[in-house]
Amino acid sequence: MQSLIVMKFGGASVKDANAVKNVASILKQHPQRPLIFVVSAMGKTTNNLVELAELSRAYKKQEALAQYQKIKDFHFSIIDELFQKDTKHTVYQEVEAYFTEIQEVIQGITLLREFPFHLHDRIVSFGELISATIVTAYLNKIGLKTEFYDARKIIKTTSLAGGSEVLWEHTQKKVKETFLPFPEHICCVTGYIASNLENQTTTLGREGSDYTAAILSNILEASEMRIWKDVDGVLNADPRRYTNTYVYPQLTYQQAVEMSYYGASVIHPRTIKPLENKHIPLRVKCFLNTELEGTVIQAPKHITQPPKHHAIIDKFNQILLTITPKDFSFVMEKHVDEIVSAITHAKLKVSLSQNTALSYIICADNNHEQIADFINELSEKFDIQKQDKVYLKTYLFLTERLADEEFFKAILIQRNGSTAQMVIPE
Ligand code: ADP
Ligand code: ASP
Ligand code: MG
Repeated sequence: MQSLIVMKFGGASVKDANAVKNVASILKQHPQRPLIFVVSAMGKTTNNLVELAELSRAYKKQEALAQYQKIKDFHFSIIDELFQKDTKHTVYQEVEAYFTEIQEVIQGITLLREFPFHLHDRIVSFGELISATIVTAYLNKIGLKTEFYDARKIIKTTSLAGGSEVLWEHTQKKVKETFLPFPEHICCVTGYIASNLENQTTTLGREGSDYTAAILSNILEASEMRIWKDVDGVLNADPRRYTNTYVYPQLTYQQAVEMSYYGASVIHPRTIKPLENKHIPLRVKCFLNTELEGTVIQAPKHITQPPKHHAIIDKFNQILLTITPKDFSFVMEKHVDEIVSAITHAKLKVSLSQNTALSYIICADNNHEQIADFINELSEKFDIQKQDKVYLKTYLFLTERLADEEFFKAILIQRNGSTAQMVIPE
């Protein structure tokens, strides 16, 4: 097979007209084919569409209309700048048609008593559809032959609110049918969105465009996946919270998974597995300075520069639950079994657990519905204390002793080899 590179441009890299022009210049510097790239919704469009869906669902007609207009104006101002208000260009009609469709879907919701989540997914899907349409049109305008691909026709999933599971066999077939033999043109694929076997729109979960690129890379056996970010690479801490951050030149797949699992939002946690399974390196590059090497994530045998500094990752919106048997019995196998079953049933996302003689303690994502289900299942036999407004701080790749002042504020601390974690009140 020819050597394929799959790229991904996230929301920040297409947040305005200049950003789209920058994407075009990056692609211009890459004449090798085949080339597939995945694109996210522009800037904060997905958040804005989620808000639009919520307003429509709540029958807040005026606010929904204002929100709709805001999203429309945002996109048309980018189009005006990229196409110099040449309203005869087909991009104007194509994007207008999407906005007509959004209006129809919203009107449909106001007549419904229920709000099936596939309609929610349908609304949010327009972010990627519109973004990919604009980017494809612009690349063709400047002479880079590009075709638009709607991932709903390529990636098949189950139907789950908040992020569906990929149906790999169906998806493999569709991906190969679509892209093999590799075309000469650049392929621009919508990130994040997919469809179920009934062809209803689904999504891969928030920030899921990285995962779209990883699915394509896996199935088409890419030689590299490259994601473009507004940071220099994978840093040892979130630069929005910490100063003096350090770029990791190389990380193993496992190190990257640990970082994203515990909350480093630079890579979607599901992205790494499809790449690891096919030994495909993932390069994280900076779209603001393409000269920088960035970070390469790959198998341990290729690593020549292990992390020189430890990573610090904060995960917010956590809850600490202390579960104690009501009859003063020890927390033994049977209790642990009951607690773990309740975690599974409630789909709690647990990032840390610990047990003492008389209690079992977990730190989990503070999802109110899941926590209520969990407590409900256990409340007959156990007392459950909740402490919310806490966050989980994780240190990875530690070689030194910890001397962090937050250590003293922590209400729970765990250390295991080079990893230390603490739960701290916000
Ligand atoms: P995208 O444009 O692909 O959606 P995101 O905004 O989701 O990009 O991810 C990039 C952002 O992730 C950065 O701007 C940075 O603020 C944040 N971030 C959090 N943790 C890290 C980290 N460890 N390394 C790099 N960036 C991080
Ligand atoms: N646009 C989607 C989101 O904001 C997916 C992505 O950007 O990766 O969640
Ligand atoms: Mg994003």
